[in-house]
Amino acid sequence: MNYTMETIEAWLDRFTEVIEQNKQVLSDLDTPIGDGDHGNNMARGVKAYQDAKEKKAPESIADVFKTMAMAMISKVGGASGPLYGSAFMAMAQASKAYETLDTAELAAVLEAGALGIKKRGKAELEEKTMLDVWWPCVEELKENQLTEEKITAYVHHTKELVAKKGRASYLGERAIGHIDPGAQSSGYLFETLIK
Ligand code: ADP
Ligand code: MG
Ligand code: MG
Repeated sequence: MNYTMETIEAWLDRFTEVIEQNKQVLSDLDTPIGDGDHGNNMARGVKAYQDAKEKKAPESIADVFKTMAMAMISKVGGASGPLYGSAFMAMAQASKAYETLDTAELAAVLEAGALGIKKRGKAELEEKTMLDVWWPCVEELKENQLTEEKITAYVHHTKELVAKKGRASYLGERAIGHIDPGAQSSGYLFETLIK
């Protein structure tokens, strides 16, 4: 697969749509183990991304990612804004030299994104965060083996985990049995990528 600026924009348009459709689902996931705002936060972010690119059309793949990064950083309150912002900013940096991306190059760009989240959130794997979806999805993408079923499994795996970062960490063992909201929104990002 060869990703152009247009196909990358189409991916993030699908992501926008899925976030908007599942705003309530994401906030409901955030209610028992957080403060119930993840859907609203993400919806504000993708709306700001759409507004920004309407105002000024991106000129490269890196520019598309940077537009999303700035929207997330400036318009999303809460933990997820700076985390998604760091991911997309790292992806902008990693794609700077490319006009188009092949599958391996896109996997490397997303790996930079996952590392951006890890660095910003000081998160490790199995701490019940979005990183528990980003990391294994990137590994699968590198092997060209990512499927919808695997994404769902990574999202659902967060149910079994005790949270070590973010609001859910205040709950200790009581967070077990609940999907991490940021893991779910990240699942949407990877699902809309491979669709
Ligand atoms: P807030 O918790 O500030 O209300 P959101 O509800 O929008 O922010 O986002 C919560 C999500 O952010 C969590 O579900 C988790 O995936 C992610 N998260 C929180 N803290 C961290 C962290 N330190 N590292 C990685 N991800 C984190
Ligand atoms: Mg929240
Ligand atoms: Mg909040």
